[in-house]
Amino acid sequence: MSLVSNTFCAWLKICYDAFLVNMSGLSYSFLITILWVAHCEEQFCSIDSTEHCTKEKEVNVYKKVLNEQYEKYYYAIEEAEKNYKPCNNTHNGCFKNVIIRDLKPFKEKGINKDLINTAKMRQKSCMFPSRCAGIEHFLLKLAPNMPNMDLIINVRDYPQSSKHFGVPLPIFSFSKTPQYYDITYPAWAFWEGGPAISLYPRGLGRWDEHRASLDKASKNASWEKKESKAFFRGSRTSSERDNLILLSRKKPNLVDAQYTKNQAWKSDEDTLYAPPASEVSLKAHCKYKYLFNYRGVAASFRHKHLFLCRSLVFHVGDEWIEFYYDTMIPWIHYIPVSKDADQSVLEDLIQFAINNDELSKKIANRGRDFIWNNLKMSDVTQFWKKLLKSYSKLLTYKTALSKNMIKIEKKGKS
Ligand code: UDP
Repeated sequence: MSLVSNTFCAWLKICYDAFLVNMSGLSYSFLITILWVAHCEEQFCSIDSTEHCTKEKEVNVYKKVLNEQYEKYYYAIEEAEKNYKPCNNTHNGCFKNVIIRDLKPFKEKGINKDLINTAKMRQKSCMFPSRCAGIEHFLLKLAPNMPNMDLIINVRDYPQSSKHFGVPLPIFSFSKTPQYYDITYPAWAFWEGGPAISLYPRGLGRWDEHRASLDKASKNASWEKKESKAFFRGSRTSSERDNLILLSRKKPNLVDAQYTKNQAWKSDEDTLYAPPASEVSLKAHCKYKYLFNYRGVAASFRHKHLFLCRSLVFHVGDEWIEFYYDTMIPWIHYIPVSKDADQSVLEDLIQFAINNDELSKKIANRGRDFIWNNLKMSDVTQFWKKLLKSYSKLLTYKTALSKNMIKIEKKGKS
């Protein structure tokens, strides 16, 4: 800028300061401020050339670069907030569309005996007794007030009715992708039969107990007390987890993500060529601000627990779902991450969260409130009830007891 404008800017600065002191000149002050900002901000710094000014300039340039870099994230959040209407969960309203979606393929023709026979799995007794017990807990509660019906419930991890082979089969599964017709039901692990790790030798289960203990842990680890680090602990049930583990090895101050052993572990090769890490309890996850969720063989049971820490959940991939996933909205309740995100994309997203602490806290709280308010044990039971009632109306034949059936009865107290 020329000497003339230097002088002009200096003059403006003097006027501006004077007007700030004498607030009676408010409208002039406003006019001059506009001139100042538009033409003289940079110039003023070079006139004064104080250390403070240089630092402020550096911070401003840094903020500008960050703002530009993060524009896509701000835009995504703004759009999500504009379109977001919180669901009303009176009468299980948040999840009614899930039932409509899953039963739609059977709506037109109904479900006849032949379809049930085709869908039937071949075992007479349960393949995973504790998984079955985790389902029976809900069914036995509801059975006295339900019409008779045949149900084919899959207790394997993987869904069974592929859209690429044959007709839709009415098979209930806890998790699926859009490539499957399976009807999603609340996983056994809400009650029992979840993965057994050394910290939870009887299997991850008792969602009611985890809710209480995680809520307590989250109160002891308020947002301000949490460590600004991304965290993941789990076994290598899917290689989609590798990039975060590798980033953690490179930048341990930014990410602590390590593989633990599972029952299939044989050597360090199974923990991506590093010794297995010790397991970390779900409560201890609450110490960290950013928690990563990945699919495993199917959806991972860790998902719902992470939110209760009041930490910000980074949910990777959008294919594998449980019954409640689709009611949660990306950028409203969690940070969505592509399953193909490489290390630099992961790093960028974590840095975005660090540099936008208030936004991160807001999303973390909304995610927590969603799970806390809408995924109580009573909501899970209600979902089962609505699902079974709607399903039973689709059966086009009268159910009859067969000689092969085993009677299931309530075991002990619950
Ligand atoms: N888990 C845990 N702490 C650990 C490792 C695992 O709490 O250090 C829990 C985790 O919440 C998950 C379950 O154990 O629900 C199994 O985790 P893993 O990563 O082995 O398999 P996933 O089911 O996620 O594919």
